[in-house]
Amino acid sequence: MSIEIDPVCKMKVETETAQWKSEYNGKTYYFCAPGCKRTFEKDPEAILTGKGPLIQMM
Ligand SMILES: [Zn+2]
Repeated sequence: MSIEIDPVCKMKVETETAQWKSEYNGKTYYFCAPGCKRTFEKDPEAILTGKGPLIQMM
């Protein structure tokens, strides 16, 4: 079992049970929820560089 970090909200995601994933630049990213996947796919560069629209938690 392996754990990946959801790049959008930084939550830990188990790769084996992950329902939402996305491939970008040859790497697979895992998400905790469809909303995170959507946010990532809208602008993966922004998420990965940390400039992105992070989660709306505030
Ligand atoms: Zn998430």
